[in-house]
Amino acid sequence: EAKDRGRARYVVFDGALRGALELRQQVEADLRRGIDRGELRLLYQPVIDVQTGQMTGVEALVRWQHPTRGLLSPDQFIPVAEDTGLVVPVGSWVLHEACRQLQDWQRNSGLALTVAVNVSARQLSDSRFPEVVGDILAATGADPAALCLELTETALLDATDATIATLHALRRLGVRLALDDFGTGFSSLTFLKRFPIDVVKVDRSFVRDIAVDPDDAAIVAAVINLGRSLNLETVAEGVESPEQLRCIRELGCHLAQGYLFSPPRPPENIPALLNTLEPAGIRNEIDTAALT
Ligand code: C2E
Ligand code: MG
Ligand code: MG
Ligand code: MG
Repeated sequence: EAKDRGRARYVVFDGALRGALELRQQVEADLRRGIDRGELRLLYQPVIDVQTGQMTGVEALVRWQHPTRGLLSPDQFIPVAEDTGLVVPVGSWVLHEACRQLQDWQRNSGLALTVAVNVSARQLSDSRFPEVVGDILAATGADPAALCLELTETALLDATDATIATLHALRRLGVRLALDDFGTGFSSLTFLKRFPIDVVKVDRSFVRDIAVDPDDAAIVAAVINLGRSLNLETVAEGVESPEQLRCIRELGCHLAQGYLFSPPRPPENIPALLNTLEPAGIRNEIDTAALT
């Protein structure tokens, strides 16, 4: 009986594993087709100057408008894209589309925004990546200084000298580099010293409880102070409440992103936000501060 149970478990496990593999292969084939058929989309989340409430830029966030599964978030396909190498063509498409949009905003709406684009480890480990970026900038006419490439600590975890050379080559193009999700990986402090980084983004997980958890507040304060003393721009991710905004303002954080200001939106909705974007969060904060 125990043997039967063992066998049954084995069968279930085997089935689940085979199912996972099949699903992965199916997603891969699907994604390959999706890229060719133009099913990828970019949404843009505003980045706000914490002191003035002005939108200074956006982060491009990829979506897959799947013909039967609906609008898919990056969590639903970027991991498969990473494993299969498809993240390289996906990433090139994202970069090209974001730069095209950046130039379009600049030319047709006179918007001087920065655009941040997420770059995966696979893209970075290709020594031709700076050339790809350079070609896209040239083809679209986008201002390199307005482009910021976001890298995660995990992407830099096994960085070789070649990776560091790639980062320097990117900077020579005039683009800026950000360390994304800061604090969630390892050896963060040495990273800041070792890599040519311009911007540090404090991960949402530390911002979430900043107003109630003294430990999280201390971590965010340390990151912001460190960033400032190294002359880096600091961005707080996932700001959802006025209390969180107040905390990061008091700590001297430069920029913020989060649902308090805006979720990621389609590009046509961005120009209208430039002057209307509720500094509501900010105004309330300023009003409250004035009253106390
Ligand atoms: P990320 O770069 O850290 O992007 C921020 C994520 O937080 C986005 O999720 C955004 O929608 C979400 N977010 C923003 N504000 C708030 C908030 O106030 N509260 C909460 N709960 N969430 C907020 P999204 O769009 O699902 O993207 C998830 C991750 O997928 C990104 O994290 C990034 O690592 C990756 N990703 C997105 N686009 C690309 C891409 O084009 N290429 C690559 N390689 N990765 C991408
Ligand atoms: Mg990012
Ligand atoms: Mg992030
Ligand atoms: Mg994050």
